[in-house]
Amino acid sequence: MGANKATGIDQGGAQVLLHHIDLWDDLVDGPDDEFREQDVPEHGHATFVKLSRYSSILNRRTENVDGADTREVYSFRPRMWGRIETALEERDEWCPCGHGGFQNHGDYYTCSYDGCDQQFARDELEVDS
Ligand SMILES: [Zn+2]
Repeated sequence: MGANKATGIDQGGAQVLLHHIDLWDDLVDGPDDEFREQDVPEHGHATFVKLSRYSSILNRRTENVDGADTREVYSFRPRMWGRIETALEERDEWCPCGHGGFQNHGDYYTCSYDGCDQQFARDELEVDS
């Protein structure tokens, strides 16, 4: 899990980041948009916990709640958000919902993003065959 000296980006963290761009895109609008653990959808919680280990990717600060308790507030480092945006722009959007992948269930297809429950027929997919 050593950080790459040249870029300062941890490759393990970058993998978690780039394999779940739909989740981050769902969660925030950009690097100025802060979020808390409770904002993360249930299906993405384990992924978020993994990503939260990488301080090269997420900024973190502590805020007070009701005077006594504290909680962590996160935001994406601007350079890392840039990588999310680039990945969103460059990928192929096969599904009508705009997400990146799908699963074949025989007579129908579903979006492979856990936060999306869309189903579609073969001829709705934008794949040349
Ligand atoms: Zn979808």
